[in-house]
Amino acid sequence: MRPISGWTLKELSPSSIESYLKCPFVFFANKGFRLLDMDEIDLDLDVRQSGQFYHAVADALLDPTRRLVWSEVELMELVEDLKNKHLIISETDPTWEPRKAKIVKWSQHFLDFEKDWLSTYPATQVFGRETSWKSPWGSDIVFRGKIDRLDINAEGQAVLIDYKSSTAGKAGPRSWLANNDLQLLFYIWALRSGGVSDFRGEIVGAFYYDLKKFDRSKGLHLRQESTLLASLVRKNAGVSPEELEEFMLEFEKKIDQTLFRMNQGCYQPEPDDQKDCQKCRWNQICRAPPSELKFQPDTNLLLRAGAGAGKTTTLIRLFFETVDHFRSTHKRWPRIVLTTFTRKATQEIRERLMKEALRREDPELFRLLQSRYYVQISTIHGVLSLFLSRSADKLGLPKDFQLVDEYSLLKHEKSVLKKRAREESDISGASGGV
Ligand code: SF4
Repeated sequence: MRPISGWTLKELSPSSIESYLKCPFVFFANKGFRLLDMDEIDLDLDVRQSGQFYHAVADALLDPTRRLVWSEVELMELVEDLKNKHLIISETDPTWEPRKAKIVKWSQHFLDFEKDWLSTYPATQVFGRETSWKSPWGSDIVFRGKIDRLDINAEGQAVLIDYKSSTAGKAGPRSWLANNDLQLLFYIWALRSGGVSDFRGEIVGAFYYDLKKFDRSKGLHLRQESTLLASLVRKNAGVSPEELEEFMLEFEKKIDQTLFRMNQGCYQPEPDDQKDCQKCRWNQICRAPPSELKFQPDTNLLLRAGAGAGKTTTLIRLFFETVDHFRSTHKRWPRIVLTTFTRKATQEIRERLMKEALRREDPELFRLLQSRYYVQISTIHGVLSLFLSRSADKLGLPKDFQLVDEYSLLKHEKSVLKKRAREESDISGASGGV
């Protein structure tokens, strides 16, 4: 695919960089063509909506007064207000009341967890919730985003928090960089580069806050004394200031490389993980190379890929792997049917099989490919008519039956009618003469 030119980006978010690194084509489809995936119509909340709602509740519970005691009635009112504000579910939905009770119970757990945390780290204060930041990267690009939460102590030491419904695979900076999970490193960079105007503190930690497990230990923290992180420091975990600088350098290098590729117009379908292609809505049109399908005897394989992506190459490889396996297991040739949609594709497959047999210098294989008894290469119509003709007597069809399409049938009916009309006029002409 040729690079796309003439399209420049001015403003980006951390999630857009993550999206590009997952697959540049998906990023371009969303940002360049503005082809956004439509949300599937679903009466139930999906995982993303549900996560966003719990996030909103957590945020509302940490009001500036840090009131950690709420009555059940107050919690119910809060959840109801947020439901109306976020329009997440219809007024009359019968599932709302049980769902609300579950969220209220969860809210109580959240408050208890916050109380425990505050008793362990009494110096902690919530400095910011949903804090907007904006920072230039070089002279052309500006990054912007929001930090879920910023905790700070009296000495100005701060800890960044990002709420998540699950923190699986988010252990720390090494795995973040390896998995292109760059959100927290972005936030550290944004705060250090003055992206939040009224923040003058020192970042001593950045953590994911698991809203299901109530765990905020996954992340990065500096190995130093801090009233925000006392118990974590005692475990002698964490990174040194020098290590943090190395992570940040690696992060900046990754962003520079990514922006360079974007500037070069590289938006190829190159998934970071081919497993994502199975669920991707672009997988029928993006022309990504098909994932390497492994031959497995007696197993149905399904290969989905767009036009020009290399499905035929994979089919040819699987054909020979099947032949080789069958030949070595059963000491005879298999019988194989290969079907295509068009005659042109049939011809192409036949030629490519022949070429491969020649390359292998295997005359027996060459003969096999020429035998219609062993290898049937045909269009779907061709294969079906072959099966029908072989089973005509069982299906009660005449031996000389023919398959016709609608157009041929119409043509045939017209010619029969014309013939009939001619015969009738001949008869009436003849009788008029008597
Ligand atoms: S199917 Fe794979 S390669 Fe194609 S756009 Fe989706 S993620 Fe990218």
